[in-house]
Amino acid sequence: MSDSTTAHPRLLQPLNLGFTTLRNRVMMGSMHTGLEDRFYNYSKLAAYFRERAKGGVGLIVTGGISPNRQGWLLPFGGTLNSIFDVHNHRKVTEAVHAEGGKILMQILHSGRYGYQPFVVSASAVKSPISMFKPRALTERGIQSTIRAYVRCAKLAQKAGYDGVEIMGSEGYLLNQFLCTRTNQRTDAYGGSIENRMRLPVEIVRQVRAAVGPNFILMYRHSVLDLVEGGNSWPEVVQVAQALEAAGVTLFNTGIGWHEARTPTIVTSVPRAAFASVAARLKQSVKVPVIASNRINMPDEAEALIASGSVDMVSMARPFLADADWVNKVAAGRVDEINTCIGCNQACLDHTFANQRASCLVNPRAGHETELVYRKAQHKKRIAVVGAGPAGLSAATVAAECGHDVTLFDSSDRVGGQFNIAMQVPGKEEFAQTLRYFARRLAITGVRLQLGQRVTRAQLLAQGYDDVVLATGIVPRTPRIPGVDRTNVVSYLDVLQRKVVPGPRVAIIGAGGIGFDVGEFLLHDPAVALPLSIEHWCHEWGVDLQAQADGGLVPAEPAKPYRQLFLLQRKTTRVGAGLGKTSGWVHRAVLQRNGVQMLSGVEYIRIDDAGLHVTVNGEPRVLAVDHVVLCAGQESLTELLPPADAPSAAGAPRFHTIGGAALASELDAKRAIREGAVLAASL
Ligand code: FAD
Ligand code: NAP
Ligand code: SF4
Repeated sequence: MSDSTTAHPRLLQPLNLGFTTLRNRVMMGSMHTGLEDRFYNYSKLAAYFRERAKGGVGLIVTGGISPNRQGWLLPFGGTLNSIFDVHNHRKVTEAVHAEGGKILMQILHSGRYGYQPFVVSASAVKSPISMFKPRALTERGIQSTIRAYVRCAKLAQKAGYDGVEIMGSEGYLLNQFLCTRTNQRTDAYGGSIENRMRLPVEIVRQVRAAVGPNFILMYRHSVLDLVEGGNSWPEVVQVAQALEAAGVTLFNTGIGWHEARTPTIVTSVPRAAFASVAARLKQSVKVPVIASNRINMPDEAEALIASGSVDMVSMARPFLADADWVNKVAAGRVDEINTCIGCNQACLDHTFANQRASCLVNPRAGHETELVYRKAQHKKRIAVVGAGPAGLSAATVAAECGHDVTLFDSSDRVGGQFNIAMQVPGKEEFAQTLRYFARRLAITGVRLQLGQRVTRAQLLAQGYDDVVLATGIVPRTPRIPGVDRTNVVSYLDVLQRKVVPGPRVAIIGAGGIGFDVGEFLLHDPAVALPLSIEHWCHEWGVDLQAQADGGLVPAEPAKPYRQLFLLQRKTTRVGAGLGKTSGWVHRAVLQRNGVQMLSGVEYIRIDDAGLHVTVNGEPRVLAVDHVVLCAGQESLTELLPPADAPSAAGAPRFHTIGGAALASELDAKRAIREGAVLAASL
């Protein structure tokens, strides 16, 4: 894989671990897909990993597999505790090895994060993210947990894995033992750090003894807990050195417990924000160290390896977005990478909703055997109208399947609303999706006709076999007296910078776009975007030096740039409908900036005094300079043939996708998936 002509030579260099060599420095980190929880899904899981191994990645780690029932994340979650489970896992290891890859199985005991009644922990301290209070493990229970880890690792070896990753970070069981936040024991496993680390060190020691020297034993170590009662840096180092002595082959690093109120992976976290912490760990141990979190493109990854800061990089979600990430880097085709935009919408949000993980920008992820882009038997002439996410996806997949495709858009650029979305602070990565699709259009040979507002007559006259309408939406204008005043503007006017609102603004509508407009209006235009790592750490109170326990320090956020009101008619909590794993970040930003979020609002009128409303029946006048409308959207269906129109012989078949098909609950995940699924079926 190493190629001195590539722009990323260090990243592609093999890593010699003594008894085995990894083909490059890129690891696909562990992600729960949901497929590992059911024995009948292991063939799908094998196909998913096979594609990633074929894509050239140096090392793969599976989603978390529990060593026993108490460690389940969810009821009946993936477990490896009996010889009968080995057969399924073999499907995975054989698929990866057939493509020249290497794979570790992650052993994950969720401790008090388990969403099931058998949960255990160091102490009986309930977590804020599970309704189940854990039972404190007895000393006998601890010994049986160690045996479960050993049994699990031996079974993984039998199943053909190249090693195991022991999950010791993100606030799971071993992390719970390590920190006083959750470990209040007074026996040999609590109190001093020597006692608190006894369980993880004993597990590593006994696993190493059981599996022998030629089996990779990676430990995912929490280098920054980002919670009160987390470990100090000297403790982090002391634990790492003890684990190393006990038999660890290499360290992966973990940032932040799941209950931390500091974002660690969403798109607004600067790229490679935490790599310096992994680099500090490398200075204290002799075995290789892996950096993780928000590394998604090769330049940052190469710089980390080339500078000697770390030995490998771990990327998890970027391999959902693009299985061929490494091969593309090796071939110098970086501009073809389908970049993970850190949205969490189809991966983590699915996992938390107990659905199969996939990817917003790559709907095939997790569905490799079900969504297949086969060569079409009959080449068709296809028109796609609208080059937003839905149209881009449909056009490129249809062309990949061998059809003759023309893509129209009335705008002078592709991307539709994604061009607006990427103006929002923290959503800069969305531009990568448009770069990817622009390249894909060229590669697949789609004919692109920009600056053309297509009419139905035009479509009928051109002799297309199929017409895909992906014309998106128009913003809704609510019927409020005074809505036609000049100081009432649409989110499009604001985000396209056609209007610069005054210092006091009311936002009507608190959906995803209302929150985005809020963040846009709070941002001081003098501060460059994306935020630097240093600036971001000040905003969130993160100490990358970890001088304070857990790496938390008081935040020093910038002063709010405007006074904002964010309004909705529903009486539910404002922002309740936002993404499960990212919505809290948006709410926290607005709260910190003093935004008044009001629910149960009725809009009465807008006049010189401002916006007149009632809030839960109480009249109020919001004295604002501007009102910004973010009141949802309606489908743009002007090109649809009337339902009762007779279909003439030879007329094209019409299909609608994305916002044009249904504006409510529309997001780019649905738009891109609908485009791909339709195109694959044409
Ligand atoms: P659109 O993106 O609206 O594209 C439709 C295209 O059709 C446009 O380019 C238009 O010019 C073209 N068109 C219309 N009529 C014609 C015609 N007659 N002839 C030629 N061309 C025509 N979604 C998420 O999933 N996550 C997010 O975080 C997110 N954030 C967002 C933030 C903002 C500020 C905005 C505005 C949207 C955001 N979205 C987000 C929503 C997402 O962008 C949309 O769901 C998605 O763009 C819908 O895709 P689409 O292809 O159906 O329509
Ligand atoms: P949305 O989420 O449906 O929100 C629309 C808002 O407008 C709601 O708060 C709604 O609340 C209000 N509203 C609806 N009709 C109204 C009316 N007649 N008068 C006044 N208010 C009205 O839609 P959106 O914010 O426009 O976002 C569009 C899509 O983009 C969404 O589906 C979203 O998933 C996606 N998006 C996602 C993200 C993300 O971070 N994941 C970010 C941005 C956008 P009430 O009815 O209670 O008033
Ligand atoms: Fe990345 Fe979003 Fe895809 Fe998840 S859904 S892998 S965060 S692009």
